[in-house]
Amino acid sequence: MANSSTRRATGQAQRVAAAPAVPATRHAARGPAAARAAVSTPGRVLARAPRAAARAEPATPYDARPFLPARVSMASLREAAAGCRGCPLYLRGTQTVFGEGRRNARLVLVGEQPGDAEDLSGHPFVGPAGRLLDDALSSAGIARSDAYVTNVVKHFKWEQRGKRRLHGKPNAREVKACLPWLRKELQLLRPQVLVCLGATAARALLGSGFKVSVQRGKPVTFAGAEHALATVHPSSILRQLTSEDRRRELAHFIKDLRVAGRLLAG
Ligand code: SF4
Repeated sequence: MANSSTRRATGQAQRVAAAPAVPATRHAARGPAAARAAVSTPGRVLARAPRAAARAEPATPYDARPFLPARVSMASLREAAAGCRGCPLYLRGTQTVFGEGRRNARLVLVGEQPGDAEDLSGHPFVGPAGRLLDDALSSAGIARSDAYVTNVVKHFKWEQRGKRRLHGKPNAREVKACLPWLRKELQLLRPQVLVCLGATAARALLGSGFKVSVQRGKPVTFAGAEHALATVHPSSILRQLTSEDRRRELAHFIKDLRVAGRLLAG
């Protein structure tokens, strides 16, 4: 049986083979420095990138809407999202990781993006942060099987550090490009309670000025659900440096989820 690094290497090789050649404008899209580097060899500049090229838009339009299906259902959305090329993240991720859960779920949990384990498995919240979420939901009296879980961004953004693929935060363009998928999921689900996990989800849905550190655990108005609130992303609890800090943050997280539980019971 292939180990995970072999599978990863094989997957990357297949993606490289399948991926279109990176256009010159892609270098420009990374900024003037990248554009200059693209026309240089080590130690010697062959040519200067023209100013206009450095400002040019990449070939990718940063918009998932052209990939939405004509007839919207959860199945058609999932199928169409698997072929989304709405932003450059499809070139990095193994696959689209769409939301999962009961079609009639009253609780919807929205995170930032899939992580390494989710990218490889194709399922949301199955890695360490997902296991912590399961435990916290259970402590708050909520069964994960009663919820629908998804992310604002459907492809894993990552950077290679040694043998590890480190999480890379999606930028504002990538979030905006991917939002049409989440909006359609929410239109179909019409949740009673929406919980944003982390600042990326909270700002994308509840407003760019939303501050999780200040407003976490407090119900706010959101047009797409009867009730909405935000809390931290479970991965932020795992990143705490000491076990005491992790315990404290986990307790606060469970307290926020209990608010969601009360709203569900309400
Ligand atoms: S991250 Fe979203 S918009 Fe970008 S390619 Fe993936 S599904 Fe499409």
